[in-house]
Amino acid sequence: MIQTNSTVKRVAIIANHKFQSKKIANKLFTTLREDERFYLTKKSPDIVITIGGDGVLLSAFHTYENELDHVRFVGIHTGHLGFYTDYLEHQVDELITTLREDTGEKISYPVLQVSIALADGRRIRGLALNESTIKRIEKTMVADVLVHNVKLERFRGDGLLVATPTGSTAYNKSLGGAVLHPTIEALQLTEIASINNRVYRSIGSSMIVPKKDHIEVYPKKTGRYIVSVDNKTYTYKDIVKIEYQISPQKVHFVSTPWHTSFWQRVKDAFLGDLDR
Ligand code: NAD
Repeated sequence: MIQTNSTVKRVAIIANHKFQSKKIANKLFTTLREDERFYLTKKSPDIVITIGGDGVLLSAFHTYENELDHVRFVGIHTGHLGFYTDYLEHQVDELITTLREDTGEKISYPVLQVSIALADGRRIRGLALNESTIKRIEKTMVADVLVHNVKLERFRGDGLLVATPTGSTAYNKSLGGAVLHPTIEALQLTEIASINNRVYRSIGSSMIVPKKDHIEVYPKKTGRYIVSVDNKTYTYKDIVKIEYQISPQKVHFVSTPWHTSFWQRVKDAFLGDLDR
């Protein structure tokens, strides 16, 4: 039965398989279970605590993607500071204090809505926190790319990626895409190994597409395609169209005093201390 007392926060704890993560999960479980302000449950939680890395948070996001309106996430990283994790493993007590003092404040970021139309008439929808990619399996992918109804190009190459602002620092960055501050509500369209020569031409650089515009990709060849949505991959035969836009929903995080500045995270993750 779902507990209805609105002053009690329903909390789910999700840890990866690491020994250290499980140890932290046990400590949190024991402490929060004895506190009448919290009710530990994986069913319809108000707060989801993830313990591990960015991958655990991505998985938790997908577990609760149909409940984004009322769920807030907060992550503890066992290892280096992650992009979606505010707390390090020695800061569990700080997290418990934050949860006890929590007034429901949140930090919200855009998520990506993906819609796939298949030749057999099926339409598949998904949400991505980081990005979605499309790649053709057997041969070069050839696809028409439309941005806000303008036929921009005929792309040839391995595939295309569309990233959210928070996902801009993940796979998108490895492909040479720009790092986008998560308060900028925009998508980023990035090429995966495009063929550019005197015969074939595509834009070549990443493009930042505003919230109001949608991106459509029309594969020109039949065959099998791999579509990824964050850490999940699917194989589809004969994709007619794949459409991307910013979702009307957002992902919410617990607003914590430990929420590091985005630029500090970028520096810590990719550069370190270079004042040498
Ligand atoms: P994972 O958890 O091992 O993640 C892979 C790496 O990406 C980790 O180091 C993780 O910390 C980092 N990462 C995840 N989200 C990030 C973000 N928003 N900003 C910066 N770094 C981030 O593997 P997984 O669970 O399969 O994660 C899937 C993610 O891996 C995908 O969403 C994609 O972004 C990323 N990925 C990256 C590459 C690449 O860089 N060449 C290739 C495939 C997938």
